[in-house]
Amino acid sequence: MSIIAQEVARRRTFAIISHPDAGKTTLTEKLLLFSGAIQLAGTVKGKKSGRHATSDWMEIEKQRGISVASSVMQFDYRDHIINLLDTPGHQDFSEDTYRVLTAVDSALMVIDAAKGVEDQTIKLLEVCRLRDTPIVTFMNKYDREVRDSLELLDEVENILKIQCAPITWPIGMGKTFRGVYHILRDEILLFDAGQDSAQQLVNEVISGIDNPRLDELFPLEIEQLRNEIELVQGASHPFNLEAFLSGKQTPVFFGSAINNFGVREILNALVDWSPAPAARHATKRDVEPTEGKFSGFVFKIQANMDPKHRDRIAFVRVCSGKFERGMKMKHLRLNRDIAANTVVTFMAHEREQVEEAFAGDIIGIPNHGNMQIGDTFSEGEALAFTGIPFFAPELFKTARIRNPLKIKQLQKGLQQLGEEGAVQVFKPLNGSDMVLGAVGVLQFEVVASRLNNEYGVEAVFESTSTATARWVSFKDNKQKAEFEKALQHQLSVDAGGNLAFLATSRVNLQLTQERWPDVVFHATREHA
Ligand code: GDP
Repeated sequence: MSIIAQEVARRRTFAIISHPDAGKTTLTEKLLLFSGAIQLAGTVKGKKSGRHATSDWMEIEKQRGISVASSVMQFDYRDHIINLLDTPGHQDFSEDTYRVLTAVDSALMVIDAAKGVEDQTIKLLEVCRLRDTPIVTFMNKYDREVRDSLELLDEVENILKIQCAPITWPIGMGKTFRGVYHILRDEILLFDAGQDSAQQLVNEVISGIDNPRLDELFPLEIEQLRNEIELVQGASHPFNLEAFLSGKQTPVFFGSAINNFGVREILNALVDWSPAPAARHATKRDVEPTEGKFSGFVFKIQANMDPKHRDRIAFVRVCSGKFERGMKMKHLRLNRDIAANTVVTFMAHEREQVEEAFAGDIIGIPNHGNMQIGDTFSEGEALAFTGIPFFAPELFKTARIRNPLKIKQLQKGLQQLGEEGAVQVFKPLNGSDMVLGAVGVLQFEVVASRLNNEYGVEAVFESTSTATARWVSFKDNKQKAEFEKALQHQLSVDAGGNLAFLATSRVNLQLTQERWPDVVFHATREHA
């Protein structure tokens, strides 16, 4: 096997997804702890306050004094390299999340077992399904009174439409939580409450469900447990690797993240079962991860991660070949070579210079605004990765400022937030007021607070006459010129320089489409 193939084979890149408060942050911290990436852990206290601009991991950093650099993190576990991507924790759903999910090969879904399947989980799963992303499930908070376990599996199967294969099975819950039975290994892992001091990461294991020691330990419960296990084994699907890899079945684990319980089993599942980086679709052809030449695409841009440095990082998912520091790579959209001298990776403790990276890895390229979501980088070949979506926004506002002297800052801020994908920004061909488009209401709040904090601009948002938007493309320049002339008061350019038609109503859109049958109106835009 080539070096590149060996490196690809030991990589796992996954996103952690959940409804807010299910325990994503806690579990993330524990994954890092078990992998040895961080030494210190404990309870993440209280409600998160700055839920907007920062990643949950930055919250960990604040609360725990751990230096977590980013919403992307790399660590080693069992001679594998794991890339873990956080999904934004907003209550509101945002496009950001979709794009993070285009950069991973599998996902870890965290469910609060007291609550079951919640809204955000449903939406996230819909996105995973678009690409048949394999999903590992963690039922969290068994140290509390939770819902009936069989009922939870039923809910996942019926609402999320994915088959469940329990790998472990909980014994009791809340005050009588005893641990889990590992169905595949026929072992009982004992839960030891009060383990949240975090240093004790090993659980006592009893092998065999018929082990007499269990009768000694749990004389009152063991009979029922044995019956239940028999029932579960009869009623549920056995784990099937192929069904998991095709996104049809999810292995389910039970535990309590805050008590470090069940976390190691999750890590092992990711290493043993989750797929290594796969081929990716690009224009012209598919790109194999083991190809010799480097390629990757930008799926996320984050500005001002470090307010002291006012920096802007383009997060690139490596798709093939080997990245080496200092190498030249082609920035396809600008048709320009760039020298990758200062490229960073994100470890648990800090950013580090990347010396080399392979498919599945996420590298961060600092830049001053010339990189956009969807951009492809390659070692020469004119490839463009597809499938990084922008959605036609459904909500529109214009931004006004109280202090007219700040107009420059407003424009700069909106331009940058637009390029970052925090919100979509449309500059009318005629007129000066920029129109902001969003998929979720909270995006406006995020933009307002970031304009204030990062650009010193106090903006108010007002309603606009725009009801919906479509990107437009033409069969030739003549048609484009005619369309622009006829409808210039309704046309604008987005942050990526793409022409969009802003309709005042659905009917207006429909009539325009009928009048211009040869113009293509796009509800999603895939890449710049
Ligand atoms: P996130 O919003 O999904 O990132 O959730 P957090 O990790 O911030 O957790 C939300 C709340 O649930 C916090 O108060 C955690 O302390 C708590 N929590 C997380 N895991 C557990 C668990 O295993 N048991 C219990 N009882 N509480 C937990």
